[in-house]
Parts: sequence; C-alpha cells; structure tokens
Amino acid sequence: MKSIMDTVTLVSHPLIEHSLTVLRDKHCTTAEFRHHAGIVSKILTIEATKGLHVIPKTVQTPLAPFKGKKLKNDVVIVPVLRSGLAMLMELQDFLPSAVVGFIGLARDEKTAQAREYYQNLPKIFASHTVLLIDPMLATGGSFIESIAMLRGKGAKNITIICIVSAPEGIQRLANAYPDLHIYTAAIDKKLNERKFIVPGLGDFGDRYFGTV
Ligand code: URA
Repeated sequence: MKSIMDTVTLVSHPLIEHSLTVLRDKHCTTAEFRHHAGIVSKILTIEATKGLHVIPKTVQTPLAPFKGKKLKNDVVIVPVLRSGLAMLMELQDFLPSAVVGFIGLARDEKTAQAREYYQNLPKIFASHTVLLIDPMLATGGSFIESIAMLRGKGAKNITIICIVSAPEGIQRLANAYPDLHIYTAAIDKKLNERKFIVPGLGDFGDRYFGTV
C-alpha cells in the first residue's frame, strides 16, 4: 500500500492556519467564509502550480531587452460542481488563460455515493496540466469518478487541489492513482458515519453559498 504522504503535499502557512480556523468556526458568517476560503485557495494554488511549464520570452523594458519567461498555456482547470466553483475564481486570478471544464456530481446524502449530473469537458491532451478542484476530499468518491472522466478525455497529468481532506479519501486515491498528486491545506482526523470530515468544517457548499 502506498503511503499517503507520497501522494499528498500538506501546505502549511500561518495565513492558512488563520483562515482555516475561521472557516471551521461554526459562528463564521457567509461573507467571512467566502473571504477566507479565497485566501486558502490562493495559497494552495501558488504551491500546486510550482511545476507549471514556462517558455522563454524576451521583452523590451524602457531601458533594454530582458530575457524573461511566460507561462506555457497548457492548463485546464476543472471544478467539481458545486463547491469547486468556490475555488475557481481564485485559480483564474493566477491563470486567466486556462481552459475551464466542469463536472457536476451530487452526493447522495444516504449512501454518500457521487452521482454525475453534468459534464462539460474540453479536449484534453497528455501535455496538459489538469487542476481538479473541490474543497473537501472526504471518501474520495467524487475525485475517483472525476479522474475516470478526465482520463477518458485524454488527461494524463492531474493534480488535485482541496482545502480539507480525510486520511481515508487520500488513501483511496493514492491506491487507485499512484501517480496523482494532491495539495491540501489540512488532513483531518477521520470521516464520521455520515462520511463528513471530522473535525472538518461542515458542508462546504452550504456554508460558502449561504444555503444553510
Ligand atoms: N463535503 C463537505 O462539504 N463536507 C464534508 O465534511 C464532506 C464532504
């Protein structure tokens, strides 16, 4: 069995610790929740994109030519609806030219199984870096389904970015896809009997979109 620490990068930063504590607090308002989810998503994005490809580009400064670099435009961002939308704009701030695809999965509240209700994915090439985003990695079921769809479209290089994860979900993904990499801001204790992450932060989508 693969160790989960080979698959996961736990991104730690004082700003993440602060924002995560606000997110976990059941008294935090919708506005605070959105603000701090944005901060965590941005820091995770910076870490998860360290390996992006760049190509040489020379520009003229007002004084002289400068041999710089620009991003190779080879990123596809795929949020899992609906909670993944909460992270999308944060990634787009850094990667405004990235192509965006969508996967809609609903979680059956009784079985905690993911069920597909929407898919709109672009053509994906093996050379693309796919950033698959969903804030909560619980059982890993949604990610397993999403990765199967992305692989079916040709994706080879898939990175997951999530805010809070459960060890059970990471282990399941590490076993299913040994070449996958996951960036997360927290690895919590466990899943409860309803497959919610404990201590977690509750239902991310409800809290972010104010539907509680
Ligand atoms: N989805 C959530 O929003 N929260 C959890 O704890 C698990 C899945």
